Order: sequence, then C-alpha cells, then structure tokens
Amino acid sequence: MELLAHAAVYMLQQTTLIETLRQEDRQAYYVRVGASRTMHSMHLAQPPNGLALAFDLAPTVYLSERAWHPEGELWHVLGEAGEALGLEWGGRWGFRWGFRDMPHFQLRRCACAEGS
Ligand SMILES: [Zn+2]
Repeated sequence: MELLAHAAVYMLQQTTLIETLRQEDRQAYYVRVGASRTMHSMHLAQPPNGLALAFDLAPTVYLSERAWHPEGELWHVLGEAGEALGLEWGGRWGFRWGFRDMPHFQLRRCACAEGS
C-alpha cells in the first residue's frame, strides 16, 4: 500500500499531464506523422461514457529537453510507478506496436468493462 502511495505521489508531483481525451481528427494526425499507430486509441472517447481511458504524462524536467529526452531514466521510474498503480504503460510496447510510447498510460482492458 505504501508503494502505491509513493507511486501516486510521484506521478502527481514530478510530472506534467500532456493529453487525455483526443478527437478523431487529432488521432488521425498523430497516425499520419507516426506518433501513433492506431485509430483505435484509448485516447478517443470510449463507450459507454465517452471518456478517454488513456493519458500522456511526462517527467516535468524533460519537457525542456530535445524530444523530451527519450532515453532518460525517469521514463522508467514513471512507467514503473504507473504499472504499480495497475496501469498499462506504453513504454513496454516495443514488440506489440513496433515502437515504445514512453508518456502513454491507459487502463487495462478487462472482461468486466467489456461485459457492462
Ligand atoms: Zn498516449
């Protein structure tokens, strides 16, 4: 429980929220420029409530660095904090999507959500 509290505090205090809900035209733009690989992103409005189930978060100290310092070790600290909270982290997507999406977090899909 203490680990979860530390993970939550880290994610809230040391990071900047970049984006949550995304419109389809914005998603299409990201696919066009290679920033995303799918038009089924969980940033798009999700049923049944039309809410995004994904968000992008970056270590605040990296925002002033070129390309947000993609090799910086804080991405892994952030990713592991999100995973400790039960989130899926795009930093692990190397094999699944052909690229890693370090700022990306999303709720894990589960049968309980699909059945309701
Ligand atoms: Zn994202």
